Amino acid sequence: MLILASKSPRRRELITALGRPFVATSADADETLPAGLSPREAVTLLATRKAEAGAATAAPDDLVVGADTLVFYRGEALGKPSDEKDAVRMLTLLSGTEHEVWTGVAVWHGGHIFADAALTTVRFRKLTEREILRYVKTGEPMDKAGAYGIQGKGGKLVESYKGAFDNVIGLPVSLLAHLIEQHEKRDRMLSVVRILKEVYPDAACALEFGGDPWRLLVMGRLSAQCTDARVNEVCRDLFLRYPTPEAMANAALDELCEAVRPCGLHRTKGENLRDAARLLLDRFGGTLPDTMEELLLFPGVGRKIANLLLGDVFGKPAIVTDTHFIRICGRLGAYDESEKNPERIERLMTPLIPPEESSDFCHRIVQFGRDTCTARAPKCAGCPLRSVCAHGAQSAQ
Ligand code: SF4
Repeated sequence: MLILASKSPRRRELITALGRPFVATSADADETLPAGLSPREAVTLLATRKAEAGAATAAPDDLVVGADTLVFYRGEALGKPSDEKDAVRMLTLLSGTEHEVWTGVAVWHGGHIFADAALTTVRFRKLTEREILRYVKTGEPMDKAGAYGIQGKGGKLVESYKGAFDNVIGLPVSLLAHLIEQHEKRDRMLSVVRILKEVYPDAACALEFGGDPWRLLVMGRLSAQCTDARVNEVCRDLFLRYPTPEAMANAALDELCEAVRPCGLHRTKGENLRDAARLLLDRFGGTLPDTMEELLLFPGVGRKIANLLLGDVFGKPAIVTDTHFIRICGRLGAYDESEKNPERIERLMTPLIPPEESSDFCHRIVQFGRDTCTARAPKCAGCPLRSVCAHGAQSAQ
């Protein structure tokens, strides 16, 4: 069931644009804000509190919507006016100038919340004192943030606006629809995580690094445009020859490059490995750091390898966007199948996978990509994910 946790009749009207049945409840939530929040953070926090308050009596399957709107004029948040004098003060401030209207929207479902905010910039025409007083006397400003309603008589005060109109009224429906869709995608990915866990109870990294962080960094670097099997084979000899970072840091470059030649791009990879070994020793005393920012300092290490290290060595949440992951999650419908940018995909997928499952999930996806959802000929007919896969559903038609 869709539940709108708001007393606002305007939000109750706007939410009908979703075209799905809903019930409205009033949810009381703390409206005080800590200092130093940006407008986006402030309205997102208030909307989240409202959704949480509404969820107190909801069932796990329900979708509970909270929203909050604030008007910002030169950094000052203008909420609902406390009295007519306050309304006159606000409208006088806004007269002849531009201000920002921010609405935060939060959607709770099964204990998880997706929340964000939308911005519309509004410009008022120059108002006379008489006009302001007359408008305040209509009573319309008294329950509205910034002391005006753009959808009512207050519309006459507005010269122009940039952004969504419904955001100014109090509920950006396209943002709400996006957040609901996020929950649908997350539900689907939770099913995928669960099913793959059953199919592949042991989630192991295909690179045989023996639990040694440095070796995983080396193997991760060598795996670019090379198969894991080839990297495993090459590294058996490589680590006999250069068993420690010290050995690799002092290696003759030509010999090191020759040793990694079968992995392709041997000059760049060889140079990267020698320089990475030197960095590890000179800057980190031989101990691999455990943050994304520091790992990215190593030559040849991008977010993919850094995430591999964070997940497998340090047990941290990690989305490793390798070629299997990119292909399969697109086919599953988590994002458009034409999306291939690893960083964007990492950003899109991070909120959809429980953090504690993410690293193992990535290993299972690789295995699944080799066994079933192959690049050229996915075996959709017997696929255990078919019931939750967008691509599989299409191929069944
Ligand atoms: S149904 Fe087909 S496309 Fe979807 S995950 Fe399975 S094999 Fe891949």
